[in-house]
Amino acid sequence: MKVWTVSNQKGGVGKTTTAVTLGGLLSDWGLKVLLVDLDPHASLTSYFRINPDQAGGSAYNLFLDAMEGKAARTRSYIQPSTVEGLSVLPAATALASVERKGSGFDGMGLVISRALTAIDPDYDYVLIDSPPLLGVLMINALAACKRLIIPVQTEFLAMKGLERMVATLEMICKSRNKALDYTIVPTLFDRRTSASVQTLKALRETYGAHLWGSVIPIDTKLRDASQAGLPASTCFPGSRGVAAYSSLLDGLMRKEGLAEAKVASG
Ligand code: ADP
Ligand code: MG
Repeated sequence: MKVWTVSNQKGGVGKTTTAVTLGGLLSDWGLKVLLVDLDPHASLTSYFRINPDQAGGSAYNLFLDAMEGKAARTRSYIQPSTVEGLSVLPAATALASVERKGSGFDGMGLVISRALTAIDPDYDYVLIDSPPLLGVLMINALAACKRLIIPVQTEFLAMKGLERMVATLEMICKSRNKALDYTIVPTLFDRRTSASVQTLKALRETYGAHLWGSVIPIDTKLRDASQAGLPASTCFPGSRGVAAYSSLLDGLMRKEGLAEAKVASG
């Protein structure tokens, strides 16, 4: 099971779209995929027409289980999606209260990591849609993953928060003695605007090898897909947006392969 987290402290940069579209593509390949929604706004959950506050349980219940000292009942909180091979661990609005309720409990930063380890054989890939706030939920999302995908909207203000975010990430990883590879993905790119072009240039200069070599363009089909409640590869397989995400997935897989080869060769 490989766990990837999609994260950025900014909203509206394409985090949820990235998690859903990559998840859809992986399941198209016949892989078993779990999408985990850790954002109390529950956009990913709503994308699949799952009510974030339904009785079936959610990622929030994993935190409750941990606080009550019970073993995590991860499998019972997971729901199928409309797409074969793609499952969802939904968010709940109550996730917003984890910060307050969880303080004082040991191990609250590792709840998701432990819950996923327990179901390791069930999935090939897990994609976590992380909340935009740096807090216990984001710490959980970071602690659980091997690879981090940071979507960045190609507009002037995008660089501002990014530097701080990357510094914070590096600090968290250092304190956990954990190597975490991250890939910055330029999103909502519009080559006709100088803001997009300039931002891409600045990203390239600052982040070099951590920046994915291509871009996700603005494509209204990605928005239409969310309206249809389906991953874009299912309803608009020939769209530019899906082509761009396929190429991103290829790039991420290649990085994954290289990392594995490195580990194998010591
Ligand atoms: P976040 O999760 O970071 O808040 P979303 O993935 O929800 O961002 O994207 C915000 C909005 O932009 C959504 O309405 C989504 O459909 C739309 N969107 C995301 N990526 C693109 C894109 N490449 N082209 C056009 N619309 C996009
Ligand atoms: Mg989102």
